[in-house]
Amino acid sequence: WQRLTGGLSRTSQAISQGVTDIFTKRKLDALKLEELEDVLLRADLGVGATSRIIDAVGKARYEKDIAPEEVRAILAREVEAVLTPVAQPLEIDETKKPFVFLVVGVNGSGKTTTIAKLAAKWRSEGKKVVLAAGDTFRAAAVDQLKIWGDRLGAEVVAGKEGADAAGLAFDAIKRARETDADILLMDTAGRLQNRAELMAELEKIVRVMKKADPETPHSVLLVLDATVGQNALQQVEIFGRVAGVTGLVMTKLDGTARGGILVAIAEAHGLPIHFIGVGEGQDDLEPFTARDFARAIAG
Ligand code: GDP
Repeated sequence: WQRLTGGLSRTSQAISQGVTDIFTKRKLDALKLEELEDVLLRADLGVGATSRIIDAVGKARYEKDIAPEEVRAILAREVEAVLTPVAQPLEIDETKKPFVFLVVGVNGSGKTTTIAKLAAKWRSEGKKVVLAAGDTFRAAAVDQLKIWGDRLGAEVVAGKEGADAAGLAFDAIKRARETDADILLMDTAGRLQNRAELMAELEKIVRVMKKADPETPHSVLLVLDATVGQNALQQVEIFGRVAGVTGLVMTKLDGTARGGILVAIAEAHGLPIHFIGVGEGQDDLEPFTARDFARAIAG
């Protein structure tokens, strides 16, 4: 809880400070509601959730005094209602061995770090994890994954620089099978500058994975950087179309006052949200739960 509230403190401060400024000892009128609307939109909660919150606050107390705590409670309730359907734990079917994750997202969104955090979690549960360095274009990304692999005791399958990522996916599944691994996490490149190429590459990875095992990838995780704001909505659409995303992880919520973007994404796309990243360390990954997130951002 502390890590969560700490991680979300910039967003919650922006919201709760706004709410306190607007509502301290003041009657609720149209102007106050408009000011509240600005605060929520600035935190990137999106038009849908914002207007429902405004309606709920208005209904509760129009033309009467309303305390900031009451506004925050209504806010938390409404946000929780949006998030409840999408807050879903990441399930691993243990009969599928290795359980194969394809991890996608634009460069810099936190894919490699998230893979390391997930690997750390599963390693601590005694699971055998293999990592595949599918971002074959960036030597630094491959090195970073190798460092994490060494630290966490997870084998890293990597090819030569510029090697074919789809071929690597095939090899990685084979290797994970040979070594009786429980989980395979495959990193990928995320060069959004060249969309056609990116699409072709991801499609090929999925196609080749299916040659190794028709049921794979079992899970396609899209990693989204919360600090990019509204762009994240577009990324969900693009990667959803190309890679058949099954769930989301949102990173860097500690680095933004606009963490409401997660609410906007939940509302717009309805994809399961599994984890949120609240820091750079290997333990800074929190299972995503609707109530805690809603309470944390309401301040
Ligand atoms: P990739 O290119 O998608 O693989 O992204 P990386 O995993 O290399 O991450 C890019 C940068 O974001 C690195 O400096 C990470 O330490 C940082 N990062 C990743 N997740 C988080 C997070 O939840 N919070 C913060 N503050 N930084 C993060």
